[in-house]
Amino acid sequence: MERNYNDKRNFNRTNEPKDTGSRKRSEKPIFVVQKHDASNLHYDFRVEVDGVLKSWSVPKGPNTSSLVKRMAIPTEDHPMSYADFEGVIIQGEYGGGTVMIWDKGTVESIRTSEDGTPVSLEESYEAGSMEIELHGKKLRGGYNLIRMKGGKMRGNWLLVKREDKYADARKDLLETQPDSAVSGRSLAQISKEERPKK
Ligand code: MN
Repeated sequence: MERNYNDKRNFNRTNEPKDTGSRKRSEKPIFVVQKHDASNLHYDFRVEVDGVLKSWSVPKGPNTSSLVKRMAIPTEDHPMSYADFEGVIIQGEYGGGTVMIWDKGTVESIRTSEDGTPVSLEESYEAGSMEIELHGKKLRGGYNLIRMKGGKMRGNWLLVKREDKYADARKDLLETQPDSAVSGRSLAQISKEERPKK
């Protein structure tokens, strides 16, 4: 069986929050994108669904072009408290390296069924077909998150910008806005200032 969040971590060593099993939902669902300088730099994209952070590792990070598909590899659910985590995971621990809150904000489902009925985040996550609107500091507007059903990439998801007024193929927010959305710090600053406590 797939190991869960707590099983993957040694809380005597890591300073990440423990999953207490709390499923307290936000007033408005949130999303967070954590830039994670582990063995490979990647972006962890997390969306609140039913009181947990559904999570994907996006190796190349989110894009603002509706023509670019980004691979999003599903990872274990993270507790809501993880959305506030910015710091350094001790080397040798799972995911060891520096974590930055690259973007954060609220998210809503904009998916509707054929008759126009709104489809919830929960339902569209389970169906493997999410249409979401992000209200972040950096990421804005619609994104599709689609689970691939066949082929070699079966089970992986694709993250694609929807065509709207925020879609812009010329932009690269990863390059132009590389620093933390909450503290303004760079990865180097975080890694210097947030030495692991243990
Ligand atoms: Mn990660």
